[in-house]
Amino acid sequence: MTTPSPGDWLSRIRALPRPPSGSLRIMNVCGGHERTITHAGLRKVLPDYLELIPGPGCPVCVCPEEDIHAAVALSLQDDVIVATFGDMVHVPCNAPKREPRSLQAARALGGNVVPVASPGEVLALARRHPGKRVVFFAAGFETTTAPLAALFSRADLPDNLLLLLSARQTWPAIAHLLDDGRAGFDALIAPGHVATIMGAEQWRFVAESHGLPTAVAGFTPGLILEGLHAVLRQALDQAPRLDNAYPQCVNADGNPRARELMAATFDITAANWRGIGTLADSGYACTEALAHRDARRQFPEVFDAAYARRGEMPAGCDCAEVVLGRIRPPECRLYGIACQPNHPVGPCMVSDEGACRIWWASGVRS
Ligand code: SF4
Repeated sequence: MTTPSPGDWLSRIRALPRPPSGSLRIMNVCGGHERTITHAGLRKVLPDYLELIPGPGCPVCVCPEEDIHAAVALSLQDDVIVATFGDMVHVPCNAPKREPRSLQAARALGGNVVPVASPGEVLALARRHPGKRVVFFAAGFETTTAPLAALFSRADLPDNLLLLLSARQTWPAIAHLLDDGRAGFDALIAPGHVATIMGAEQWRFVAESHGLPTAVAGFTPGLILEGLHAVLRQALDQAPRLDNAYPQCVNADGNPRARELMAATFDITAANWRGIGTLADSGYACTEALAHRDARRQFPEVFDAAYARRGEMPAGCDCAEVVLGRIRPPECRLYGIACQPNHPVGPCMVSDEGACRIWWASGVRS
């Protein structure tokens, strides 16, 4: 049997009637989904009764400002190197003019900040600099957390490697939206990469507890259209359920080995989401056994000062509303004016997974 092309899936969607509600607002929870949807121009070719809403799919965008303040302060200590994934270097925080407002600004003042592309690079960095403490500042969802767990469960790590963990679980943000009664969407395509680790079943609550059509979807235009077709079919049948539209990579339970490793290395904890607030059971923290590598416990004075700045957001920044799908990027009053990729005000204009950056890069100007 030949695999349907993106054009085939588009034709199948167009051949379906409008859902009984007249329209369908479908949220995605993944920067990769949003990038494909936007860059492939799917919004322009789908029936006008389908609205595709970018949701909380960017881990850099939800990394709390206090963790950035702490990373900036650590980078300015003589015996510390802060290593982090590239996007994070540019994420601004709200600091007085005389203070660095990002890791990039800290570097310009002599701060030790090294962008990395993988956990393996951080390990090599720590081995190259035995006289420094190398703090890996890591934000990410489960797909990033699993390799972090693999790294920090190794027995051969150098003593000078520490972790500033800002990792988050994906599903609690959707649960938060659904529980507070202002979800703003009628169906969900769930993130295929996260589901390869955590399993499709993690998303069943959306259909069964909240009655919304749900499908796990992959990342190419064709796979996303397949996921959209699945939720539209459910809406037409008025029978919400969980469909796995990415069975090539996703099974019901995910990757048990990766999940065991994550559970053994990190605890699940309440965590602050930038601009959104603290969500129960939404973050990862180093276990007691990793206390000697936990930057939060090894630099208590730095984190006490950083936590005191919790909630400080750049003036006019609507990133939290964008992340929660309550406004579209151009509805932020700063979009394209005060906030552009070369002078971002908020993280959503920095990260490759941020909706503002994605929309701007694809030419959306208003
Ligand atoms: Fe945040 Fe800038 Fe997007 Fe506004 S335009 S939501 S400030 S990133």
